[in-house]
Amino acid sequence: MYEPYPVPEIAREHKQFRYSSLWAFAKQDLRLLAFFLLIATLIGFGTGYLGPCILFACALFFALQMRSLYLVNDWISNRPYDIPPNLDGIWGALLFNVYRAQRQERIVQAEMVGLIDRAQSSLVALQEAVVLIDENHQIEWWNPAAERLLGFQSLDRGRSLLTILRQPIFIEYFHHIDDAPDGIKMKSSVFEDHYVQVKMTRFGGESRLLVAYDVTRMHNLEQMRKDFVDNISHELRTPLTVLSGYIETFTDQEDINPRWKRAFDQMQSQTRRMNALVNDLLLLSRLENDKSIVKNQIIDMPTLMNQLFDDAQAYNVDYGHTLNLDIDSHCDLIGSDSELASAFTNLITNAIKYTPKGGTVTIGWHDDGEQGILTVQDTGIGIDPKHLPRLTERFYRVDSARSRQTGGTGLGLAIVKHVLMQHNAHLEIESKENQGSLFKVIFPKERLYKML
Ligand code: ADP
Repeated sequence: MYEPYPVPEIAREHKQFRYSSLWAFAKQDLRLLAFFLLIATLIGFGTGYLGPCILFACALFFALQMRSLYLVNDWISNRPYDIPPNLDGIWGALLFNVYRAQRQERIVQAEMVGLIDRAQSSLVALQEAVVLIDENHQIEWWNPAAERLLGFQSLDRGRSLLTILRQPIFIEYFHHIDDAPDGIKMKSSVFEDHYVQVKMTRFGGESRLLVAYDVTRMHNLEQMRKDFVDNISHELRTPLTVLSGYIETFTDQEDINPRWKRAFDQMQSQTRRMNALVNDLLLLSRLENDKSIVKNQIIDMPTLMNQLFDDAQAYNVDYGHTLNLDIDSHCDLIGSDSELASAFTNLITNAIKYTPKGGTVTIGWHDDGEQGILTVQDTGIGIDPKHLPRLTERFYRVDSARSRQTGGTGLGLAIVKHVLMQHNAHLEIESKENQGSLFKVIFPKERLYKML
């Protein structure tokens, strides 16, 4: 038969207890009292002292009960984990029940402790740092990996987490953990040139679980990729300048052999494309690497919008679209003017490029009191909504042939995304195939400068 826990010794000895009611134990006591009274009555009649004999019998029974009470108290107070004294009657039943309940509780407790031990030893064995932080932001527990990766020491128990991990990027993350669902990457405070990915999760109200792991290898690989693209773009710049210089000189010659004219024209357009590609790659790499780009200039929006509009008109000469400018906000922007101008230009040239001749392109700047919204709307070829989620990836094109034909590098929207990220802004795209597109750049309130 299945027994969930070992049967205590006392249970074997008093097996009948399991099947008897409390009345059965009370009857044992009553039988003993009746026996004492019978003997006392017989002796009392024989000696002529019935009253004192009965009194003596009651006193004896009471004394035995007091002894049992004393033994019960002694066991509970001094030896609660030993097998209890073997008592009859109601005291024995009471002792057995207390012992059984206590035994059960100890077994459950042992199981819990075992489980906690197992959980703890698996956390200790982890390569990832695990830290428990209470609702007052104080450190409750951490595993050895946290000492290796984050530099925790035994004295840190009970200290505030923010006094140990003091990097501004971490403090910012600590106060806004929902803004970075994947956590953050930060420099290790223990090893120079090492990086850790840190992620926090809330549990039980305001307590938090912090998990951190070493991402130095991934960081280095990513850096190598960036450096490679950066270097190769720089290296390509000089030969490209030389080539396009010569090609331009040859193309401009009036006595050029017509057989070569076409070839030189093609060379010129391809070197222009390569130049555009190299410039876009360099800009992207600068946006990724240089976080210190000035982002707090006050940008006079009517001036910038008019400048963008003039540039758009110059670009529009070959397309013949109707261009509109629509400004109904008195807000200016706070940010980096050259970066933002380059992002907006990308959106506007795309609208012009991807609209068949004779279409309409409208550039707008509005605010709704909470957000600033720059819009670029066209009546062009539109985009199938299935492409929208991937549109800002590098080199992602809906139609590669058309993009190349229009001189596109496939990097325009990736640049837009990076510039906007640096300005806490985001891009929303509404589009349907053959029904035109609407690109909205949304700036948060803190990026708006209101003129009085
Ligand atoms: P490209 O240099 O190819 O234009 P972008 O990153 O600027 O690269 O744009 C990515 C792709 O998004 C383009 O290849 C094009 O397919 C699509 N696209 C961008 N803007 C528009 C638009 N206004 N209308 C239709 N398609 C667009």
